[in-house]
Amino acid sequence: MFLLDQLKRYAATDRIALLYQGQAVTYRTLHRQAEAFAAYLLDVFGNCDAPVLIYGHKEVCIPVYMFGALKAGHSYIPVDTTFPTERVAQILEQASPCLTVNLTDAALPAAKTLDASALAELLTKYDGAFDGVDRIDDQHVVYTLFTSGTTGKPKGVQITAKNIAAFDEGVAPWFDCNLTDGVFLNEISYSFDVSVCALYYALSRGMTLYTVDKQTLNDPRALFAALRESEIDFWVSTPSLAEFCIRSEQFAEALLPNVKKFVFCGEVLTKKLAQEMLTRFPHAEIVNAYGPTETTVLVTAIKVDEALCANVPSIPIGYPFANLQARIAAPDGASLPEGEAGELLILGDCVSPGYLHRPDLNEKAFFTDRQTGLRGYHTGDLCRMENGLIYYLGRMDGQVKLNGFRVELEDVESNLLRVENVARAAVVPVFEDGKAVSLTAFVRLEAADGLSSLARAKKIKTALASTLPSYMIPRKIVAVEDFPLNTNGKIDKKALSALA
Ligand code: AMP
Repeated sequence: MFLLDQLKRYAATDRIALLYQGQAVTYRTLHRQAEAFAAYLLDVFGNCDAPVLIYGHKEVCIPVYMFGALKAGHSYIPVDTTFPTERVAQILEQASPCLTVNLTDAALPAAKTLDASALAELLTKYDGAFDGVDRIDDQHVVYTLFTSGTTGKPKGVQITAKNIAAFDEGVAPWFDCNLTDGVFLNEISYSFDVSVCALYYALSRGMTLYTVDKQTLNDPRALFAALRESEIDFWVSTPSLAEFCIRSEQFAEALLPNVKKFVFCGEVLTKKLAQEMLTRFPHAEIVNAYGPTETTVLVTAIKVDEALCANVPSIPIGYPFANLQARIAAPDGASLPEGEAGELLILGDCVSPGYLHRPDLNEKAFFTDRQTGLRGYHTGDLCRMENGLIYYLGRMDGQVKLNGFRVELEDVESNLLRVENVARAAVVPVFEDGKAVSLTAFVRLEAADGLSSLARAKKIKTALASTLPSYMIPRKIVAVEDFPLNTNGKIDKKALSALA
């Protein structure tokens, strides 16, 4: 696998692979420790290829366990600490990992767990014991990322080595900025696929990942101090992070004098933000890129400059990468003519082999094109294409992006129904400037609870926090006697949105 081969090349150097809160990990150490972890896995689990689950956040050791797992023929499942333990339990049940690396103090219902101190011990014990043979091929699943699912339980998107190679090939012309080393911003949780840009694109090119955790992201003073010392050359993030930063005048070229490229992805990049970025960073290139987890991080991109902003009604999501196909399809699957709105389909080697153990979902979401034999994915995104350029018009279902996080409204609703005394629930996004900024949940109670609205909302939110990550918890909870219904007798979400 390309990345593992590249790591071997840099293993003879003391280039810095990861920087986090003053700790530096060189490529030499990263490679050596990954080999030690691989030797441990081979010793204890032999040829078993069950995944290794990694529960943590941005700890500097996480890539060691990821790449060590790959070397020994396992895939890995990164699960961020924003996932409460009950959600982790659901993932454990679905994925049956042979080992859980637990970098937190939380107790997990896993069959075999190693904590940070046990891991440190075994890295010493198995140092130098690996036989040097990476047990991974093209079809091998590299990682499974669990994302919000409509049933109230997360679903696992599997990505293979072949998928990652296709991503790397497709994205290279868009990411290229003549950097053979350089500093790459690494702030996205490893359980979201945009982090693959740092882990695979940047590390395979010998760059340094400047790592920022969520505590720093939530504290403007700490964040700006980190950015000031970072010497970042390459920035990949959601527009939400830039929108947060841009509120401060400090967020300009003087803060990041080295930055050559900003890549925005994961949610709508507004013209307003793009133009402000062009003004604040006149020497950097700005790229808007798009892609679902199921098609390996990114599949379209476009360079955003003043000329583009002046000529388009909204920033397009770009041109499909050269090594894949993008089609706009009618509900019956037929390709639509230029300019017509329909579902965006992505076909090519970047498309996932499917959700883990979910043939029911796979049948709906994935397909094989009869004519070309290419594997395809129904994105659920309403788009239109003009002169090869794709414009994103919105979702065709109940999926929303909140601060860049993917949330299925039905997932939140299902979990609300598990809360004591909630008989029915409907969740709607609240929009500001065309962008979802929060969720409002409407609930019908089974019986009067005698609580004030505030106390009830607090109680329900506390209950939800045990099953949902914090970014999925509705900001407002409103109790209703009855739901407005539409002509089909279903809950009228448009009417609820107006109320929200
Ligand atoms: P995820 O799997 O979390 O990366 O989410 C994928 C979804 O995010 C896509 O299907 C889109 O709905 C949305 N998305 C990703 N990138 C963009 C973008 N540049 N502009 C608008 N929406 C985007």
